[in-house]
Amino acid sequence: MKRISSILAIKVASLFATISNADPLLYGTNFKRPLVQDQPLVNSIHVKDLLKCAQDLEDVAYATLARNRVHGSEGHKNTVKYFKDTLEALGDYYTIELQEYTTEVTFASFQEFSVDGIGFATDSFEFGNNGTWNDVPLANVANLGCDPEDIPDSVAGKVALIPRGDCTFVQKITNAGAKGAIAAMIYNNGDVGVAAGTLGGVNELIPVGGLTRADGLAFAARTEAGETVTSSGDYWAYIGLGTSHNVIATSKYGDPENVLFLGAHSDSVDKGPGINDNGSGSCGLLTVAKALSKWRTNSQVKFAWWTAEEEGLLGAEHFVETSSPQDLAKIRLYLNFDMIASPNYYLGIYDGDGSRFNLSGPPGSDVAEKLFEDWFAAKGLTTFGAEFNGRSDYGPFLDAGVPCSGLDTGADGVKTEEEVAIYGGVAGEQYDQNYHSAADNVTNLAEFPFEVNAKAIAHAVATYGQSWKGFPARLPSNSTVPARRHAHHRRSSSPKKHVCGAQEILEY
Ligand SMILES: [Zn+2]
Repeated sequence: MKRISSILAIKVASLFATISNADPLLYGTNFKRPLVQDQPLVNSIHVKDLLKCAQDLEDVAYATLARNRVHGSEGHKNTVKYFKDTLEALGDYYTIELQEYTTEVTFASFQEFSVDGIGFATDSFEFGNNGTWNDVPLANVANLGCDPEDIPDSVAGKVALIPRGDCTFVQKITNAGAKGAIAAMIYNNGDVGVAAGTLGGVNELIPVGGLTRADGLAFAARTEAGETVTSSGDYWAYIGLGTSHNVIATSKYGDPENVLFLGAHSDSVDKGPGINDNGSGSCGLLTVAKALSKWRTNSQVKFAWWTAEEEGLLGAEHFVETSSPQDLAKIRLYLNFDMIASPNYYLGIYDGDGSRFNLSGPPGSDVAEKLFEDWFAAKGLTTFGAEFNGRSDYGPFLDAGVPCSGLDTGADGVKTEEEVAIYGGVAGEQYDQNYHSAADNVTNLAEFPFEVNAKAIAHAVATYGQSWKGFPARLPSNSTVPARRHAHHRRSSSPKKHVCGAQEILEY
């Protein structure tokens, strides 16, 4: 079955809903607020305000039938409205822009799989093609189906049964389709439920469904023994264009040639309200943006709440791609906050100097990392480098040559004994057991890291809002042009279900 409409494959260009720039005449003149001070700004950040904001976002999600804030949904539209309204209530401190972004979204899906008339647990893959088949035998492939040679000619007219692992879903499905399979069923490589994931975009591949590891292995064994295992499947999804917005707030005062830029993604996955991921980072920024409005800064400060991060950093990437190299060169530092209140937390600072993971950022990334390290250390708090892999909204900025830093408290990575000795919590469990699930709600936020990280954000804003003294100058902007193309390359060619600075084990 073909997709509902060919228009779905069209990617719509987007534009600024509103554009306005700070009036340069206002800079440094006639502005009565005192120059931002570190201690008062940090001290004005309170956990009760952070939690109130998180609760507001949960309420926004739960007020909708889908109970989420995924890009293109009612919940996300109302999230954007919440940020916009809150910032507008601060008076004329910020110029607020809504940058529109449109891309394909799965609005509804249906999936059913049976063998010999008995139904088995299954799931669709995001952007998997629609298809229905009745009484078609399963066929095994060799190895993991990653090499075209792994697919025997005997899959022609059958449903290829393929284990997960080692290469992308798209590669496996392409190989099977090339040998004439009419559909593919991918079974998990761990006992973690039904295989599922994203194909990364609209395609013309054969339909695909997911199975558990146990079911897949059982079918494979029967087929291997010479039995004809007859399957029926029905996979259907309605994909349409979803539109949402980046919210960008720019201080009207402060030097627009030397910008401090802070960002957090405002969208959730479809499974839940997304309160640690990333209501926490979103609310950290909003609370600091509100507190900052009582002060004057020497540097211009920009805050962004990015859309469609969970779809592959799309909102931030769109911003970078539609910004001129000249404007990007004015960003002295981009700071990212994605998951700062994980229940089984550690205190992570992006490893901008590469000392822990050997992946460093443009000059300045190391300086910002040290600013955070010193601040936590002065409070007697231990921090660890967080892998600087570009798997959140700072990725496109890194690709554009912008120095980056940020904080995170862990996603689906596993807490170590060493970290438990420092922070408490449970060794061997995920930093956030509710990661990308319905349980990622206010109840499961950890208050201590939420508050201390938001205060650290305020410290960075006060520091660089006052002065860039000791911070390296930007490299010439011509060095950014080739790098920016990588952003696109990475997005379209790599599995991308996100994110959040941690390893995503379910990508393949
Ligand atoms: Zn996230």
